[in-house]
Amino acid sequence: MARILANDGIDPIGKKLLEDAGHTVDTQTVPQDQLIAALQNYDGLTVRSATKVRKDVIDACPNLSLIGRGGVGMDNIDVDYARSKGIAVVNTPAASSLSVAELVFAHLFTGVRFLQDANRKMPAEGAAKFNDLKKAYAKGIELRGKTIGIIGFGRIGRETAAVALGLGMNVLAYDLFPFSGNITLNLTLGIKVDIPVTTVSLEEVIANSDFISLHTPFADKPILGAAEFAAMKPGVGVVNCSRGGTIDEPALIEALNSGKVAFAGLDVFDNEPTPAAALLAHPKISLTPHIGASTNEAQERIGTELANLIIDHFRK
Ligand code: NAD
Repeated sequence: MARILANDGIDPIGKKLLEDAGHTVDTQTVPQDQLIAALQNYDGLTVRSATKVRKDVIDACPNLSLIGRGGVGMDNIDVDYARSKGIAVVNTPAASSLSVAELVFAHLFTGVRFLQDANRKMPAEGAAKFNDLKKAYAKGIELRGKTIGIIGFGRIGRETAAVALGLGMNVLAYDLFPFSGNITLNLTLGIKVDIPVTTVSLEEVIANSDFISLHTPFADKPILGAAEFAAMKPGVGVVNCSRGGTIDEPALIEALNSGKVAFAGLDVFDNEPTPAAALLAHPKISLTPHIGASTNEAQERIGTELANLIIDHFRK
């Protein structure tokens, strides 16, 4: 039976599944500089995004047979190197897609009704200040009937499309790999509705969307920069719940200040965990600290899927 260190935690459901299968699971967080010493006593390691599993750790831990990432992005693991050393590397790519998609709409609803600014400025008392804010926030807009542009039409991009279609929005999607097929809406009472979507060019998405949401992996250079902001509709809203680096942050600030972009919702940043001060203070930006997958439901799915992958691995 395997000894597992869940260094960035694991949902209690996943821990119980592993323990019921006879494995031991330790959930204390070992600091990065003590990880190699601690791992001498373990067969498997699970991480989220905090713990780094680089070449030095892999080389120094010959007992390690499996690295599990609870979630999607494996930027914190030297995946190819680990696999070249015979270590299995697994993740749970689909478990958090809906939660991330719903966070996109939390940011969109926030932006179109100025919630990020209202939360900062609500007066404790005084009709004058209250009425000033009422005037400042008088020109909210509805999402229904508007067009959302989705850049990166993979798991989360498609979940975002499903939520948007359910709200009565139009969807324009772009991906490096063209897609033409149905997006399935899972409605109440078990009703499923298929709506066809065909990807278009990036230029079309940028020029014709009322809101643009990014769902691509980390890129070497930003996908949205000054030229893209210039080509967008005036008053567009931009949301990034993908990875820092996909938006040129100084260009975004400029576009917000000029009024070209009406608002932005950001869950990810260039310099995590220390976002640029200009973003933190900005009245047109709604910010969250990389919490796309941080729902009870997503964490339960992640824990369950990860536990089952680990159980399968050590059964072989
Ligand atoms: P995915 O692999 O299913 O989809 C990504 C899609 O982007 C693919 O279809 C790919 O072809 C496309 N793509 C890649 N480069 C592109 C480009 N330059 N232009 C257009 N399309 C491009 O991944 P996913 O599960 O949908 O995740 C999407 C992003 O969300 C990733 O960056 C992931 O790390 C991030 N994510 C964030 C959170 C969070 O907490 N905010 C949680 C989970 C995932």
